[in-house]
Parts: sequence; C-alpha cells; structure tokens
Amino acid sequence: MPGTTGIIGGGIVGIALARALSARGDSIVVLEKEGRLAQHQTGHNSGVVHAGLYYKPGSLKATLCAAGRASMRDFCVEKGLPYREVGKLVVAVDESELGALAEIERRSIENRVPDLARIDDVSRLKEIEPHVAGVAAVHSPHTAAVDYATITEAMAQDVRAAGGSIRLGHEVTGIRLEGDRVRVITPVSDDLFDRLVVCAGLQSDVVARFVGANPSPKILPFRGEYWELAAERTDLVNGMIYPVPDPRFPFLGVHFTRGVYDNVHVGPNAVPALAREGYSWLSVSPKDTWESLAWPGAWPLAKQHWRMGVDEISGSLIKPLYFQKARRFVPELKLSDLTHKSAAGVRAQAWGRAGELLDDFAVDQVGPVTLLRNAPSPAATSSIAIADHVIAHYLTPTAA
Ligand SMILES: Cc1cc2nc3c(=O)[nH]c(=O)nc-3n(C[C@H](O)[C@H](O)[C@H](O)COP(=O)(O)OP(=O)(O)OC[C@H]3O[C@@H](n4cnc5c(N)ncnc54)[C@H](O)[C@@H]3O)c2cc1C
Repeated sequence: MPGTTGIIGGGIVGIALARALSARGDSIVVLEKEGRLAQHQTGHNSGVVHAGLYYKPGSLKATLCAAGRASMRDFCVEKGLPYREVGKLVVAVDESELGALAEIERRSIENRVPDLARIDDVSRLKEIEPHVAGVAAVHSPHTAAVDYATITEAMAQDVRAAGGSIRLGHEVTGIRLEGDRVRVITPVSDDLFDRLVVCAGLQSDVVARFVGANPSPKILPFRGEYWELAAERTDLVNGMIYPVPDPRFPFLGVHFTRGVYDNVHVGPNAVPALAREGYSWLSVSPKDTWESLAWPGAWPLAKQHWRMGVDEISGSLIKPLYFQKARRFVPELKLSDLTHKSAAGVRAQAWGRAGELLDDFAVDQVGPVTLLRNAPSPAATSSIAIADHVIAHYLTPTAA
C-alpha cells in the first residue's frame, strides 16, 4: 500500500492524527482493536479541557496543552459540539498548601493560562463557588467541560469524508520492518505501510515490543474511580473545584467536576489497576500484574510512594475515606450525597527502569515507526496539537 500511513489506535490521539493527515491529502488507515472508537482512556475520563496550569513551563505538556485547548474549542464550535467554560478553582484548604499553590500560580503565569486570577479574599472565593472552604485559590475561568468520545466520533467523520479508512475490530498482533517500510498484521488483515504511528494508550509498550523498541518506558496502569453527586445536590458546585496537587505525583487529586451534561462527579483517585484495561478490582490479569511487579522500577516506586498507595487503595475500598477527601474543600457534602460509583478510567502512565514516573509526553522513532510512549492527561485536551507536533517532527510529507 504505497504512500500510506498506518495508525494504531482509535482513541482521540490516533483519530486527531488521522484527521490532520487526511486533511492534507495523505492516504491513511487506522487500526483499532475494539468494535468502536474511544473505548479506553478517551471514553473514560474527566472530560476537562485543561488550560495548562500545572505543567512545567517549556515542556511538551505545557506547549501542546495551550495550543490544543484553543484548537479543541475551535473544533467544538465548528462542529456545534458542547463546550462549556465552567471554570476551575484550585483551592488551598489551609496555610500549609500556600507554597504549592504559589508554584501553580507561577507555572500558570509562565504558561500564559488565559485570565488566570489569584484569589486571597475568601468572600471572592465564595462568589465563584459559594460552598467551598479554603484560604486562597487560583481561578482559571476558561477551563472547560466537553465529551471526548463524541469529539472523537466527529473527528472520525472528517477522516472518512476525506477518504481515510478506519477499521474497527482490527487488533494488531505483529509488526515487521521490511526495508524502509513496515508490515502490520492483525488476525484479519496484513498491510505494508510506508510509515506507522502507534497511539495505543494502555498497550503502547506492548506494541512497541513488536517493533523491537526499547522496553522502557513501560506502562503502569493507574485506575481513576469516580463517585456521582446526587442530582439534587449538584448545586454544591458551580464549575470545577480541585485540590492543590501533591507535586511528587503526576495526578491532580480527587476533585469536583461539573460535566458537559450538568452531572457532577467526584474523582478520580489513582489506584494501581490489576490489568491494563482493569476497570474494577475484579478485573485482574495475572500477566499484566506480574509484568508490573517484575519491572526493575517496581520496588523503587513502591518504596517511594507506598504511603500514598495505601491511602488511595483504602479510599477506593472504603467510601467514608474517599468522602473525607472530598469534604475537605466542600464541608457541606454528606456521605449520602455520593450516590454511586460511575465508570472508572485507566490511565496509561509511563514509568522508567528506576521507578520514575514520566512527567512529559514522550515520542520515540524506530525506522518508519513513530511511537507515542506517554500520552496521559492532558493528552485529550492537547490531541489536535499532539497530531500537529508528530507531523512536524516525525512525519515528512508523503512522496506519493
Ligand atoms: C481517569 C482519567 C481521567 C482523565 N481526565 C482527563 C481530562 O479531564 N482531560 C484530558 O485532557 N485528559 C484526561 N485524561 C487523559 C486522556 O483521557 C488521555 O490522555 C487520552 O484519552 C489519550 O488518548 P489516546 O488516543 O492516546 O489513548 P486511548 O484513548 O487509550 O486510545 C488508545 C487506543 O488504542 C487501541 N489499541 C491498543 N492496542 C491496540 C492494538 N494492538 N491494535 C489496535 N488497537 C489498539 C485501544 O483499543 C484504544 O482505543 C484522563 C485519563 C483518565 C484515565
């Protein structure tokens, strides 16, 4: 199939890339193992369009989140998809969190987060979120809520309209480099592509092994679980209320998010998943779990973060512990307000041999194969900009 680019993965990153390539006239084929798009991270997340508050200035996360947010807003407006700028408060509950809040403010300013405001006046805090408790906050009014699964479907329509092919139910089981081209095998197909881009999320290290790429970084699946707020209590939250995150950890902490359909969810926590696609404690893959435990980085990571691990796992298993975390910054919350757990998501977090969690987005190149090796949050926000970045830095124009 000369002049054709293969893409593995029908999540938002793979489909955004397919859309950008097909828009410029490239021939593309997307191979997705599931029967529909956006079945994994893209369809199981908080639905937040991040404004770029947290990320290290100059990092890919910082630059691609800023560019991606603007493109995402334009795309939703163009397609008539819901895009609600409900705004976000990051709240320091007491004085001990002011130092970490100041660092978030510093990064936000360097990252040019639009219209960011520091709030030290509690009455102003209460104007934005009347039920919040805290001593100070930063407010990002342009942080928005969307539905990433619907957005992915809309992008896919553009791909198909431009002549691109999206094949569902095609699980890639083998990849062979043949000269400067690449053969991609599924149980039902066999294609020779000029180039291949792997956007396989939770499976990105498994697929990287097919090409003989460095086994590091590996994916460590971290599940994020949510509780839903009772419909009659959603007025406790106007927009989004986040804690000041622990800077040693790449996750943002349990927060309140008003979603695009006006429901409010509380979460996600971060517990180790016992399977790459393990959406509950009952979903266990001995193979995936053994691979994680046998990784050289497992013990250094466990040694460093075991307290946090025990805390997160306890909160997952014992509802009142989860509730306590949320109630810290919305004291009127009652245990019965958290009615049920909603669909969890599993984060594809990459980690290295020394047990270090990779902070930034990461891309590798092996011959004609480009591998996205770390695309956790805010990769959904950034997806259109990630696609542009991959094209600019890794994919030269097709000669065909
Ligand atoms: C709990 C949670 C909350 C989050 N909240 C946010 C948020 O609010 N905002 C934000 O910007 N980001 C958020 N994220 C991150 C965001 O969801 C991801 O960064 C983004 O969806 C990554 O997209 P992707 O296309 O790389 O991966 P995925 O959506 O996981 O897609 C990868 C695809 O590859 C397919 N695949 C894998 N292996 C193969 C194979 N061998 N053959 C064929 N297909 C294969 C999979 O089936 C899957 O469909 C969150 C993530 C989680 C888990």
